Formats: sequence, C-alpha cells, structure tokens
Amino acid sequence: MHYEHRDVHGSVINLPLGKVVCVGRNYAAHAKELGNAIPEIPLLFMKPKTSLCRFEPSILIPKNKGSVHFETEIAVLLQKSLSNAKDEQVLDAIWGYGVALDLTLRDLQNELKEKSQPWEKAKAFDGACPVTAFVNKNEVNFPDIRVESFKNKKKVQHVNPEQMLWSFLSLITYMSECFTLEAGDIILTGTPEGVGKLEEGDGFSVLMKNQDREFLKSSTSIE
Ligand code: ZN
Repeated sequence: MHYEHRDVHGSVINLPLGKVVCVGRNYAAHAKELGNAIPEIPLLFMKPKTSLCRFEPSILIPKNKGSVHFETEIAVLLQKSLSNAKDEQVLDAIWGYGVALDLTLRDLQNELKEKSQPWEKAKAFDGACPVTAFVNKNEVNFPDIRVESFKNKKKVQHVNPEQMLWSFLSLITYMSECFTLEAGDIILTGTPEGVGKLEEGDGFSVLMKNQDREFLKSSTSIE
C-alpha cells in the first residue's frame, strides 16, 4: 500500500521519502543466533525508498523466493540532514521513533553471504521495509523505549535499546560519517534475538511502550 510517513495521531508527516539506513548485528544475542561474529565496527547496509510500505493493514511478502524472516527494529525518522554529525546535531535532527520490520529473504541472504556478495537482493526488494506510524520525540524518551513483537499472538521479540552494541547516537553519528543522511531518511537500529519466518496467513503485531505507557500498537496480517 502507498507509503507516507505518518504520526501516531493519524496525520501525514511533511517529510519526503528517503533511504533507509540499517545496521546488522547490533545486538550480540542475535548475531549469535545466526552464527555470526560480533563486528568491531557497525555493519551498515541500505534499503531504497521503494522498499517502504505501510505496516498496517497487511504486508505482502515475496513468494517462491525461499524463507522470509521478520526482524523487529526501532526506526528513527530524521527531519534534518546530517553529515559528520556530533551527538547534539543528531538529537536535533530526529523527528521521532516508530517500528519497522527489516524483512529478509534469509535463504537468499545466506547464499549471498557464502559468495561474499552484497545483500541487497535479500533485503532491498519492494516492500522489504514495512513501517508503523511514528511517535514524536517530544512524546517519548528514547532509551526508555521497549518494543515487543508478536507472531500469531505469541511474543517473539523484545527490543531493548540498552542492549544495543552501538547506542542510537553513536550509530547515527557513525552513519553520518559514511554518507550524508537527509530529512525523510529512516534509520533501522538493529534486531535482537528471536527473528523468524513469516508465512501467508500469519498475524503480526508490535507494541512500543515504557514501564507504564503504551505509545504505539499496530497489527497486520501477512499476505
Ligand atoms: Zn535488521
């Protein structure tokens, strides 16, 4: 379905669609579950804007391309451009936070990894980045965010930014040293353990909260 950045109150956020900059292996337990070493510097990759799609009401997954995995990740929407940024500039450039699925054709990714080839075919296809609405940064305090995801009502992932190998600030400053980030770009901050397969007919939901407040709740069905 046609994607635009939206806030949790239902309004369209007046920012262009941009690229999605992602980090692999930002949680030690997830690197382990896929048999990967923990990297010494962030492992970055991108998804193009054509990979963006709405999380709700349904997500269309690729057919006949092997297993499709969900990775539940906190998404950061930028409202300003960043290049060789300092921490304060990053904080100023953030519009807010949402949840994204870094959809991955896992069998294909494993094949590409074996051949030491780039991952784009496994991670950058159309619809590879379903995104929820965003909570404005003034309504939520980042390090206190927790995200839970549920497949067919069973809890599958718990995202806790305190377990990130690179905090969102060090991650985004590092990304801005590698390439210019622009208003409308989205940063995916990595997935914890618990990734798994999605199949037609599955229900999937995500919940963003801190101790006593739910900021965002979104449910979808897999088609
Ligand atoms: Zn990921």
